[in-house]
Amino acid sequence: MRNVIIIGSGPAGYTAAIYASRASLQPLCFEGDPLARPPEPQVGGQLMITTEVENFPGFPEGIQGPELIEKLKAQAKRFGTECVEESVTKVDFSKRPFRVWAGERVEEAKAVIVATGARAKYLGLPSELAFANKGVSACATCDGALFRGKELVVVGGGDSAMEEGNFLTRFASRVTVVHRREEFRASKIMVDRMQQNPKVGWQLNKEVLEIYGDDRVRGVKLKDRKTGAVTDFKAEGVFLAIGHEPNTKVFGGQLELDEKGYVRLRQHTGTSVDGVFACGDVADARYRQAITAAGTGCAAAIDCERWLEEQGG
Ligand code: NAP
Repeated sequence: MRNVIIIGSGPAGYTAAIYASRASLQPLCFEGDPLARPPEPQVGGQLMITTEVENFPGFPEGIQGPELIEKLKAQAKRFGTECVEESVTKVDFSKRPFRVWAGERVEEAKAVIVATGARAKYLGLPSELAFANKGVSACATCDGALFRGKELVVVGGGDSAMEEGNFLTRFASRVTVVHRREEFRASKIMVDRMQQNPKVGWQLNKEVLEIYGDDRVRGVKLKDRKTGAVTDFKAEGVFLAIGHEPNTKVFGGQLELDEKGYVRLRQHTGTSVDGVFACGDVADARYRQAITAAGTGCAAAIDCERWLEEQGG
């Protein structure tokens, strides 16, 4: 039986692994399915599909998301974390030892740390799926370079839309932000940067009704939310940046979740099940930063270690 199984491999999961392994708990970390592509969660989490991370303390020049993940993983492995590239398909937290199913394996553990993160949301249009890999994407880092010289649309008004839109201007001839309001959720610095970019256009108060095309995306139908007028906007790529949802499907009926599906925390990083802890974006709809995920990953490992000690090791 394992002392602790960590589920998830973003900054929260790997930081929990660094702390748990340094505490000699020899954690097993299920990192997810290496073949999964967005919208399914990625091994390494959302930093794998992000560009430069400018706000993780300790990297004054910035660091690429995947490189940061590589470093966190190397640090976790250095202290003896066993990393397995498998997705957890089922858990049983109803009794101890807890049981976790992943691929062909069933593992038992005294404690579990849930760090499965969150994933990009989609609009819910049938045409989104029809044009997946044919011009629709929720990952500018993964797919941006495929759109050299093309006219693109980015949907959303948060930091992701600004960051991804800005990044896409490296390749695209023009990037138009389609946002359903006139106000932005994004921070001022990110909006300013976009507004100063000569390759950026804006379609505000607009809702995407449909994405159309032939063998590839050719444009979007937009509805003006004030006048109701429907217009046609030509584009060869549509990037969705409309927020995230937590990866908690596997924990339904096992852990208490809030109305949006995030893991509900009780005391500190404890969940509704004694001995199961949660950290990072899976339990945080508020901050959702790499550094807060890492911070709560540390807290979950410390809470877990203390709890195991109280149980008699
Ligand atoms: P977000 O802040 O929740 O913004 C989502 C945006 O998408 C909002 O503008 C929202 O519109 C729009 N939206 C949501 N559902 C929609 C729908 N069905 N149809 C059309 N539009 C829809 O999400 P985010 O931009 O992904 O950012 C999440 C968190 O990560 C934030 O805390 C952000 O600061 C952080 N982040 C930080 C950085 C950075 O600092 N470098 C980069 C990326 C993300 P409304 O405004 O009308 O609701």
